[in-house]
Amino acid sequence: MTSKINLLSNLIKCKSVTPTDQECQNIITKYLVPLNFEINSFQQGNVSNLLAINSISKPVFAFIGHTDVVEAGPLHKWDNDPFIPLIKDGYIYGRGAADMKGNLTAFIFAVKKFLDKHPKHRGSISILLTSGEEGNECHNGLPEIIKNLPFNEIDYCLVGEPTSESHLGDTIKVGRRGSLSINLEIKGQGGHIAYPEYCNNPIDIIPNIIKHILLIDWDDQDNIFDKTNLEFTNIYTLNNSGNMIPDSIFLDFNLRFNPNTPIEKIKNLINNTIKEHSTDFTIKWTIFGKPYLSKQNKLFSITSKVIKDITKLTPKSSTTGGTSDGRYIANICKNIIEFGCLNTTIHKPNEKINISDLDTLTLIYYRILEETLL
Ligand SMILES: [Zn+2]
Repeated sequence: MTSKINLLSNLIKCKSVTPTDQECQNIITKYLVPLNFEINSFQQGNVSNLLAINSISKPVFAFIGHTDVVEAGPLHKWDNDPFIPLIKDGYIYGRGAADMKGNLTAFIFAVKKFLDKHPKHRGSISILLTSGEEGNECHNGLPEIIKNLPFNEIDYCLVGEPTSESHLGDTIKVGRRGSLSINLEIKGQGGHIAYPEYCNNPIDIIPNIIKHILLIDWDDQDNIFDKTNLEFTNIYTLNNSGNMIPDSIFLDFNLRFNPNTPIEKIKNLINNTIKEHSTDFTIKWTIFGKPYLSKQNKLFSITSKVIKDITKLTPKSSTTGGTSDGRYIANICKNIIEFGCLNTTIHKPNEKINISDLDTLTLIYYRILEETLL
């Protein structure tokens, strides 16, 4: 087996911008077949999925990962080509280094070491990978892999997202808020700006609508989840001329909502607030992810102990950040954690992972396997 740096570099070289995989899953397959994993690869829509299983005996330990990455963004903000890995000052730079090709590399090497040392371990290891995590095709990713699982329940689930904040091991995620996107169209009556008496300018009521939506008090902070938060993401009309009043104005916004606030309550509060200002509007709701929480989590306790042994840090449990694939697995697994390297550079230019963290992370993953499968 070649080195971790080699594997990670080869993965970074694959320009696997979501939902494409390029060669990532083939590269990983070459590592897993000699370790006696059975591989099921399949395409769903534009998404490549891979399900690697070394047996079906219980307890089932599953690693959830993704091979896709987000766009590189403005190239001039990078010191290197984002898809040509750069090794500098103890780091590997490249798109996906931290989210999450580095974590995936660490897990593959942890598995290799574990199977070499403990060929007769109890239970089984599954590695579930999709190229559809970062974009709009996530429904073709992990939910489709779950349909192909040869078991109905997973005992331990490790999602390899980058969760550490200042030091490797300081944060483990055990849940996430939900994500709800809203597209609102407020209708008016367009026409010539010189004859406003024949028109009803929909732009005029927007400041009040925004103000009152922002004043909605959704819920209280609890000790597990942050408060529900709403952010406006776009406001536009389809009007291109300077002497026209537009027919409609469009507002887009997104809520990250905690489980204390049901979606129906959110819909009612927003609908009622808009109705105070407009009688003619349409609204489209898109739920990108429901919230999940893995309470009383045995894997959290195991991982905390391993991290403390290796790094001397006591990790905190967290539910912050965007949505993750953990939400899809929550129905079939009671012990889910998300844990990986530092997340400070993810989705940014000059994304990087510390090479010594890559070694420590491999050791942490290896010890988690020992604690759960021996
Ligand atoms: Zn990720």
